[in-house]
Amino acid sequence: MKAARLYDYDPEMNVQLKIEEVPAPTINGPDEVIVKVGAAGLCRTDLHIIEGVWKEVMDADGALLPYVMGHENAGWVEDVGSNVTSVKPGDAVICHPHRSCGICLNCRYGHDMYCDHGLFPGLGLDGGFAEYFITNESSVIKLNTNITPLEVAPMADAGITAYRAAKKAAGLVHPGSYVTVLGVGGLGHIAIQCLKNLCGARVIAIDREPGAQALAKDLGADLVLDGGSDLIEQVKEATGGGSDVVIDFVGELGVENICWKLLRQGGELIVVGYGGTIEVPTLELVINEIKIGGSLVGDYTELVELMELNADGLVKMHYTEYTLDDINTSIDDFKNRRFTGRGVIVP
Ligand SMILES: [Zn+2]
Ligand SMILES: [Zn+2]
Repeated sequence: MKAARLYDYDPEMNVQLKIEEVPAPTINGPDEVIVKVGAAGLCRTDLHIIEGVWKEVMDADGALLPYVMGHENAGWVEDVGSNVTSVKPGDAVICHPHRSCGICLNCRYGHDMYCDHGLFPGLGLDGGFAEYFITNESSVIKLNTNITPLEVAPMADAGITAYRAAKKAAGLVHPGSYVTVLGVGGLGHIAIQCLKNLCGARVIAIDREPGAQALAKDLGADLVLDGGSDLIEQVKEATGGGSDVVIDFVGELGVENICWKLLRQGGELIVVGYGGTIEVPTLELVINEIKIGGSLVGDYTELVELMELNADGLVKMHYTEYTLDDINTSIDDFKNRRFTGRGVIVP
């Protein structure tokens, strides 16, 4: 099969993925599912993998290279292991990015992302920038008949990550509250739609790119700001003292040390984007009683909920399509923000 493989890490991101013929995956375990990839979302995590941000935790000695990235996958079931009963060849599915075991205590509590034996295709083992990839039965969700894999592939990670953060925010606010979304890219534009469907809070969207600002307006953001130097004053003025919740989809490039300053007293920061280091004086935490926490992808059931919103037309992915042969162009376009929403690779 054709696949795009990473051969090197490079902080400057000058490496190109190689498009080449590799052996297609085969069923080795009774719970495994091979998916013919319909589409795979291109994620900032893929850029971070190339940059080597994950190298120390995942591949310190470089032994995993070369491998196939791509963890936002949807397609059609190609083959199944002997114990698989919930899907059959030909079914259109979206794949939760974590191959959870379904057996450990964390899985039984529904915390798929905390699975003791979880595997993450696309991070450390071959993923979906290929014609086929392998996962297991506990990760797949059958698509509603009105949905194609192409329309939803990035929902597998970008989508549920935004949904989980929006759902956390929705539980903290009420009509009249403010939720501020920093970064209107592949995740932020989904979060805006989720917030508008999950709660009555007003949504402030912040992004430097005019295209992203226009998308945020289209999707119903109540106020769109360009993230200029007076951002903190603008948000404090618009909200009467600060935002009740801030969701930071950037987490680096200096944004990580502005986002918590947008909170009102008692407010909560939900960190989703990563790469930077947050520095908050302890006095700020005490005086303003702000809370700071992270949000990690989402559970299988959260992806099911998101697919329901999608099937009903309430949350849609905005995407730009690239062929597998054009994957290096898509990476370059992503780095330089030449598209709004998500880049999607179609093998
Ligand atoms: Zn992702
Ligand atoms: Zn488990």
